[in-house]
Amino acid sequence: SSLFSSVEMAPRDPILGLNEQFAADTNPDKVNLGVGVYFDENGKLPLLACVQAAEKALMDAHKPRGYLPIDGIAAYDNGVKALVFGTDSDVIKQGRVATVQALGGTGGLKIGADFLKKLNPNAKVLISDPSWENHRALFTQAGFEVGTYRYYDAATRSLNFDGMLADLKAAAPGTVVVLHACCHNPTGYDITPAQWAQVIDAVKAGKLTAFLDMAYQGFAEGIAEDGAVVGEFVAAGLAVFVSTSFSKSFSLYGERVGALSVVCSSKEEADKVLSQLKIMIRTNYSNPPTHGGAVVAMVLGDPKLRAQWEEELAGMRTRIKAMRRALAEGLKAAGVKQDMGFITTQVGMFSYSGLSKDQMVRLRNEFGVYGTDTGRMCVAALNEKNVGYVCASIAKVI
Ligand code: PMP
Repeated sequence: SSLFSSVEMAPRDPILGLNEQFAADTNPDKVNLGVGVYFDENGKLPLLACVQAAEKALMDAHKPRGYLPIDGIAAYDNGVKALVFGTDSDVIKQGRVATVQALGGTGGLKIGADFLKKLNPNAKVLISDPSWENHRALFTQAGFEVGTYRYYDAATRSLNFDGMLADLKAAAPGTVVVLHACCHNPTGYDITPAQWAQVIDAVKAGKLTAFLDMAYQGFAEGIAEDGAVVGEFVAAGLAVFVSTSFSKSFSLYGERVGALSVVCSSKEEADKVLSQLKIMIRTNYSNPPTHGGAVVAMVLGDPKLRAQWEEELAGMRTRIKAMRRALAEGLKAAGVKQDMGFITTQVGMFSYSGLSKDQMVRLRNEFGVYGTDTGRMCVAALNEKNVGYVCASIAKVI
């Protein structure tokens, strides 16, 4: 027998599998609402104008391509800090935040997970039920036992906040709680500021460790508005982990631009934590790649490009909201009797439609409308041209 004869075939990634099926579908009206990617009004993946301008400047500079520092480009890390904690934040002034450039939001989560495992090997991890598919896999791979806290209630098609709070209050001290900072994936339901305050109290009282996953900053209400929740954890005196992803907000999916920030209680502590995060990076991939980080650092640091980015991000946010309204109104017009108004109260790129697996399969097979079996649809892939067809198709399976 060969070295690999006992290796089993791993299950296919459900979303990537859906993409393959979509690519092979010959239906001319097909619409892909499966993958979490923002498409513009023409159904195209945008290349932001601020990114093009930064890339042009970088190309013209013809810089040599040496290694980056292990923790990435300093201007990038500082830009992330300002975005996540606010420009005038005390924790930054006091040097209490350790930030490293990471390979996307996923990379930030993994560096944080590996560091947490070393710090507290017996801790458990809690993720929301449901959560982004990769949360469970990633923290399991890092050696953690992963459980869930209640979040979405399918029966009432709304949040089960009492259940969430009860589960957090029942968690053992040291438990790592993964929280979606905004634009919850997959449901699209966020908790309110008043509910966040209760979550923060529970985290503090229960001596839990909060890990905020910030993959969609700027997609709910705005950059500062969406980031405000981080400030609330900091104000409560908590040591919090924050992963950042620029995949969506810069439309730089393939460049793998993200970060991990860890808030500590002193500069001395932050320096030590940073030294440990650097070991995690050094022993995995040594140091991050240059291009995406250089682009983002330049855009964040240049007032003109920065203003342009904020405008383009606002454009994406506004278009998604318009598509949510078009979807809700279109379903009504197509004769759907049940109230679909929740689509417009949800935020971010996704909508939990409340459709069953059977309905989602019918949408796919009979109409070429692709969402996940859980009923998740990416509203950021809707546009004026396809939303009518999507509404008519949904109306036929409901
Ligand atoms: N967290 C959540 C909640 C996400 O939705 C995503 C992206 N789908 C990520 C993290 C990972 O982002 P990235 O592609 O930057 O690794």
